[in-house]
This record gives sequence, C-alpha cells and structure tokens, in this order.
Amino acid sequence: MIEACDVAVIGLGPAGSSAALAAAKGGARVIGLDRKKKAGVPVQCAEFVPMMLGVDSGPVDSAFVQTIMAMESFIDNRHDRHNDDFRGRMIDRAAFDRELAARATASGADLRFGVQVEEIAADGTIRLNDGTQIKAKVIVGADGPRSRVGAAVGQGNSAIVETRQASVPLLRPSESTDIYLSASIAGGYAWVFPKGDVANVGLGVDRRWKNRLKPELESLLDWLAEQGQVGREVFRYTGGAIPVGGPVKSTAALGEVLVLLAGDAAGLTNPVTGAGIPAACHSGRMAGEAAAAHVAGDGDAAEDYAEELDELFGASLARAVMRRRQLVDLYRADGPNDDNLRQGWIAYPAYWARENSDDGERRDELLEA
Ligand SMILES: Cc1cc2nc3c(=O)[nH]c(=O)nc-3n(C[C@H](O)[C@H](O)[C@H](O)COP(=O)(O)OP(=O)(O)OC[C@H]3O[C@@H](n4cnc5c(N)ncnc54)[C@H](O)[C@@H]3O)c2cc1C
Repeated sequence: MIEACDVAVIGLGPAGSSAALAAAKGGARVIGLDRKKKAGVPVQCAEFVPMMLGVDSGPVDSAFVQTIMAMESFIDNRHDRHNDDFRGRMIDRAAFDRELAARATASGADLRFGVQVEEIAADGTIRLNDGTQIKAKVIVGADGPRSRVGAAVGQGNSAIVETRQASVPLLRPSESTDIYLSASIAGGYAWVFPKGDVANVGLGVDRRWKNRLKPELESLLDWLAEQGQVGREVFRYTGGAIPVGGPVKSTAALGEVLVLLAGDAAGLTNPVTGAGIPAACHSGRMAGEAAAAHVAGDGDAAEDYAEELDELFGASLARAVMRRRQLVDLYRADGPNDDNLRQGWIAYPAYWARENSDDGERRDELLEA
C-alpha cells in the first residue's frame, strides 16, 4: 500500500523540522521522516549559534546555555586576534532540535522517528526500511550532508570536511569562541566553545587528511589541559561531516514530484566556519513555505525558492568557497603561512578584502568550479 501526502520531509534536523512546521502552517498534509529514534540525538555539533536574524528565536531561547561575546583567534596556539563582533549563543543542540520538532508536530505535521528512507524511486516514491511506501506531491530533502534525496536528483555535496570533537570539563569560565588555525589542521580549523562548565573542543579537516583528526585533537586537548583551561576527562566524543563545496541546485523533479533541498543537503553550511544551523532553519522554513504554495497551485514557488536562497546565501557562500579553495590549494604546495591562514578565516580583514574581480560577478563561476 502506498501512503499519500502533500509534503514528505526527509530528515528532521533544524532544516527538516523548520520545513515541516512551515508546510503544515501553510495548510499542507505533511509527513516527516528521520532515522534517529529521537530528535537531535546523538548530537553532532559544537552548539554555537550566531545571531539569527529573521528567525524565530524561540527554539534558541528554549535551548539556551550561555552567551558568546567575542571570538579569539590563535595561530599555532599563539593568540593572534580578538573580535567582539561574531557574538551569539551556545545551545543544547538536542533540546533545540527537540523543540523544533515539537513545534512542527503542534502545527499538525506527522513526524515519524526511527524510520530510515531506503530509496527514492525515479517517480518520487519513497521506500522506508519498514516496507512503507510514501508518495508526496513535494519532497523536501533535509537529510543532511550526505543527502539521499540530493543523490536521487544528482545533487550530492561535492566537498566534505570531517570532524572530531570531545566534550571536556571547562576549568575557566569563558564567553568567547576560540579558534585555532594551523597549517597542520589541513583545510579546516580547531575550536574551543564554552558551554557552562563544559567545553566542546574539536576540529575539522578536509576529508583527504582525515587520519590527522585523532592525533591533532589529542594534541590540542593536551595543550589546553597543560594551560589549565580544560580537564582531562572526556565526557563524550562526536563528529560528522560538514559540506564545504557551496550550494547545490536546490530544486529538481522526480516524475511529477517536486523536490526541494534545504540545509546541509542543499550545501548551505558556510564552507569556512562550518556554521549551518541558521541556514538550515532559514532554508527549511522557506522550503516548507514553497512546498505548501506549490501544493496550493503556485507554479512559481520552486523557482522563487531557488532565487530567495541565492539572494540570502549566494554571496557569502561564494566568498567562503573561494577562500577555502585558496587555502586548500596551498596544501598541495608548501602549505599555508600565517598570512594565508588569516586570509582564510572570517575574523581577519584579509578574508573580507575584495579580489580583483567583483565577487558577485565571479559567484557563478566559483560555485560551478
Ligand atoms: C562536529 C560538528 C560541529 C558543528 N558545529 C556547528 C556549530 O557550532 N554551529 C553551527 O551553526 N553549525 C554547526 N555544525 C553544522 C550543523 O550541525 C549543520 O549545518 C546542521 O545540523 C544542518 O541541519 P540540517 O537539518 O540540514 O541537517 P542535519 O542536522 O544533519 O539533519 C539531517 C537529518 O536527516 C536524517 N537522515 C539522514 N539520512 C536519512 C535517511 N536516509 N532516512 C531518514 N533520515 C535521514 C538524520 O538522521 C538527521 O537527523 C556542525 C557540524 C558538525 C558535524
């Protein structure tokens, strides 16, 4: 038997739950699916949320742990720059995802956890691991960096950073995100984010250098412990993939089924910072609204969605893609020097400096390369 609905949302992280909420609010019959047994668990995140302009801050408030007032940047463990912009909040990510899912359910979306999407057929039929088949008018692919929906429409994320993170005791309270840049952290950076009396200490590297994750994290933890900043007990390890290739094409069709990609599945995470929560919430809401509008007969809804995404994220993602590529290219030669590292990180004016040609003009070229 095939179950029918208006909008099937695959993946119920921040993008998927935001999409399910918006589509249900827009009057659509929504089924949301996630292979996790519970929303947001296990957490694969450093849990920092930059100021989220234009997004309902309710879920952030409900998951709030502490404020972040500054960013400190280090090069090879030497302090190099203080910024008091880049403020934000540390959250309990599991509570955040749980709240978003609860809001979607309260709006009438039928969210199902513990079910894995096994296949999306060429006509858009969704097959789950329990044998259920679902046919929707619109599929929202919000299934993260290695999106099955994206793969089904030929839009996988082209580049991935791999991460490893340890949560450890924080011995000195802090209100800054500490960023560690080094030529040895290839194609990424390390972070120490304070969460009350806990620190999320992690790093991301280009997947070609994945074998460096463990030794680099151990060496950073050792150094931080020697400074008296963190304790040696590790409460938990986590990790996961971050898409760093920039946006993929966010709209497609499988037979008569419209497909919209959102969040990490759409490659909207910032390739330099790895921050993806705000983009996931924004794009998820927009995808949900577009899905409901499409179901209600708006033939332009998909195109409008793609255009709005580009307006909102295109320029900043194009810059991040460019800066990351410049840095990664250096690893193939002698490796980056300190100035190269500065140019590749958002805290420094060199990151924001204009290149010879205008970013806007180069955007399509950069994103397609
Ligand atoms: C270690 C790490 C630290 C990070 N730190 C930060 C940070 O501090 N701040 C920040 O803004 N961003 C951070 N990010 C990025 C951020 O976590 C993501 O950008 C964000 O989670 C994207 O949301 P999403 O809803 O698009 O995808 P996800 O949160 O990945 O959700 C996708 C969902 O799809 C489900 N799914 C996948 N495949 C299937 C399937 N076949 N069937 C059913 N369900 C499926 C998954 O179970 C998952 O729940 C970090 C990422 C990592 C890996």
